[in-house]
Amino acid sequence: MCEVVVLFDGYSKNLDDGRMDANCTCTLIKGPGKLIIVDTMTAWDRDKLIEVLTQRKIQPWDIDYVVCTHSHSDHIGNNNLFTNAEHIVGLTVQRGTIFYEDPRISNGGYELCPGVKVTATPGHTREDVTVLVKTMKDEEVKLLAITGDLFEKEEDILTPSIWKSLSTPELLKTQSVMRSHIINLADFIIPGHGPMFHVTDIMRGIVKSQVIQ
Ligand SMILES: [Zn+2]
Repeated sequence: MCEVVVLFDGYSKNLDDGRMDANCTCTLIKGPGKLIIVDTMTAWDRDKLIEVLTQRKIQPWDIDYVVCTHSHSDHIGNNNLFTNAEHIVGLTVQRGTIFYEDPRISNGGYELCPGVKVTATPGHTREDVTVLVKTMKDEEVKLLAITGDLFEKEEDILTPSIWKSLSTPELLKTQSVMRSHIINLADFIIPGHGPMFHVTDIMRGIVKSQVIQ
């Protein structure tokens, strides 16, 4: 079974002058025989990312997979620390100078190891992916969804303008459908710019009512 460790909670806030202060959630997955990092924050976070991994006795070259939920600069900033890993940036898989689009990501999911799957969840961008992880919590198997900016933060369920204002306009409807799909599957969501939250049936109902027909 997999262990999931949120290394850094993401956040985002609008500054008074119209600019934004934001960083993404960075998550470590310890799967059977595989180490996976999801989203590597900004280029300015290199030292603190190395430090938090070192505290866990992990070196950058121990990482087997880097998954970036999409290619915005606050989600890919330290990919170059992990040159022993396969990089999955949105729908594109890369090792060195070799790139390809893995069709499994858009068709049921690309399994990185037992219990960890990367699946396409477009909306925020055309290429967004979510990482689904099976883990044990309170002696039960639970499904965690590491969603990137499909869900910005828990608050975007009651205030959908948060995710809508950051969506790709022509994919607004797609994102609303994907949000409902993922929240129906997941017991916990680790959003792109906020702390992990427990999914309730009330949340599922609200997100379903927001699906754009
Ligand atoms: Zn983001």
